[in-house]
Amino acid sequence: MTIPFLELRPAYDELRTEIGTAVQRVLDSGWYIGGSEVEAFERSFADYCGARHCIGVSNGLDALHLGLRALGIGPGDEVIVPSNTFIATWLAVSHCGAKPVPVEPIASTFNIDPDKIEAAITARTKAIIPVHLYGQPADLTNILAIARAAGLAVLEDAAQAHGSRYKGQRIGAHGDLVAWSFYPGKNLGAMGDAGAITTNDDALADELRALRNYGSRERYVNDVIGYNSRLDPLQAAILGAKLPALDAWNDRRRDIANLYTTRLRKTGLDVPAVPEFAEPVWHLYVIRHPRRDALQKALSERGVDTLIHYPVAPHRQKAYSHMARASLPHAEAMAGDVLSLPIGPQLSLGDAGRLADILEELLDRPELRPA
Ligand SMILES: *Cc1c(COP(=O)(O)O)cnc(C)c1O
Repeated sequence: MTIPFLELRPAYDELRTEIGTAVQRVLDSGWYIGGSEVEAFERSFADYCGARHCIGVSNGLDALHLGLRALGIGPGDEVIVPSNTFIATWLAVSHCGAKPVPVEPIASTFNIDPDKIEAAITARTKAIIPVHLYGQPADLTNILAIARAAGLAVLEDAAQAHGSRYKGQRIGAHGDLVAWSFYPGKNLGAMGDAGAITTNDDALADELRALRNYGSRERYVNDVIGYNSRLDPLQAAILGAKLPALDAWNDRRRDIANLYTTRLRKTGLDVPAVPEFAEPVWHLYVIRHPRRDALQKALSERGVDTLIHYPVAPHRQKAYSHMARASLPHAEAMAGDVLSLPIGPQLSLGDAGRLADILEELLDRPELRPA
C-alpha cells in the first residue's frame, strides 16, 4: 500500500466534464488573451473573497511583485517578511530593489509573530507581507494595527489560503492588497501557472491592471514601466470551472486534518495549533519531530510520501548569502524539523486513518518517540 503526498489527476477526474467544457469554450471563442473568460473569473473570485476587485496575473510571484510595485515599493525600501516562508515572498521584495527584513514566527502556528514586528520597523520600512502559511490566517488584527500606527502598507501572501477565514470573514480584502497563486498544487489550482491580486482599493486595482499589461491603460499608451503578466484565458476558464468545488474540497481537507490532530495528539507529537480567530484550509498539514529525517525515511519505507516545507530557510539560501549570519533560530529550527503529511481533497479518510495507524506505530518505537 502506498499513500501519495498529493495527486492532481484524481482532482481533474472529478471535474472532467466541467473543465473540458470550459477549455473547449475558450478554444472555440477565437479569443486567446484577456477578454470575457478572464473577466468572468476575476468577478467570481472577487465575489468569493468578498473583495471589490480581482486582477488576474501570470503567477503568484508576479502577484506579490506587482502588488509591491503598485504600493510604490522601490530601491532603498524595506519590507517586513516572515523568516519562514516559501522563497517567493522574499523574491518579490528583492525584484523591487527593496530589502526583505525577516521577522520570526510564533512556533505553534508557524505564522509571523506580531509582537516581533515593531522591533524590525525602521525609517525605511514601507510594508509588511504576512503569509497565511499552510492555509492558516495570520493574526491580522494585530498586524494591521501595527501597520496603521507606523504608516505601512499590508500585502497579504494568500498563496496557500484560498477560502480560509479570519474571524469569520474570508481572506481577500483585510490588507491593502492580497496576492494569490493558482499553481496546480494549491487549494484552488490551475493547469499551469496563474495568479491574482484582490483588493477593495479602486486606485490600486487600476494601477495593477496597467502594470500587468505593459503599464498601459489605453493601447500603445504606456504610463509606467509595466510587465507582461496576464492571466491566461484557458487558465481563467479552468479556474472558473473549479471554483464552485473549492469549499467542499476544503471541507475534505479539514476532515483529514481533524482526523490527524485527534489521532496524533495522543502520541505526544507536536500538532498544528489553530488560534480562535482562524479557520484554516489546510493547504498543508505540518508536524514537527526532533528526528524528522529518520521519521520521514521510516514513513517512506511504509509507503507514505511526505514532503518538507521548507528544508532551507530563505536567509540560508545562496541567493541571500549576504544574510546567512542573521539570527533566526525559529526559522532554522523549523527547516530542520517540519514534516508535511499527505493531505488533499482526493485523499480518502480511510487512507488518512491508515497513515495515522502507521504513525502511531512508528512514534512508539524508542528511537522515534517525539519527546
Ligand atoms: C506558491 C507560493 C507562492 C508563489 O506562487 P507561484 O504561482 O508559484 O509563483 C508565493 N508564496 C507562497 C507562500 C506560496 O506558497
